[in-house]
Amino acid sequence: MRPNNNMEHCRQCNSTLAPEEQICWACNAQVPEKNPKTTLASRFTSVVNVLFVIFAVLAFLALFVPEGYVPPFKRTAAALLVIFLVRSSLHTMTDATKR
Ligand SMILES: [Zn+2]
Repeated sequence: MRPNNNMEHCRQCNSTLAPEEQICWACNAQVPEKNPKTTLASRFTSVVNVLFVIFAVLAFLALFVPEGYVPPFKRTAAALLVIFLVRSSLHTMTDATKR
């Protein structure tokens, strides 16, 4: 870990870039996304949202479809609960990083 990790470097020419710079001043290359954490979090949130829907449907089906066709309701309900907790903690995380 370098102490000055706020500095961005161009991937093309390795010039030092200002944090708010969109395009490299030296080679005109597009600067990669600044906030990989936020992007990753939002991407993760959408994945979690999809999983939430899938498990909600599975839990719903488990109530009606005989066991063997879908995972048991207890397991899907537990997974749903975990996803729900992850989802709510993600929401507080992304809210905290917003200014
Ligand atoms: Zn460059």
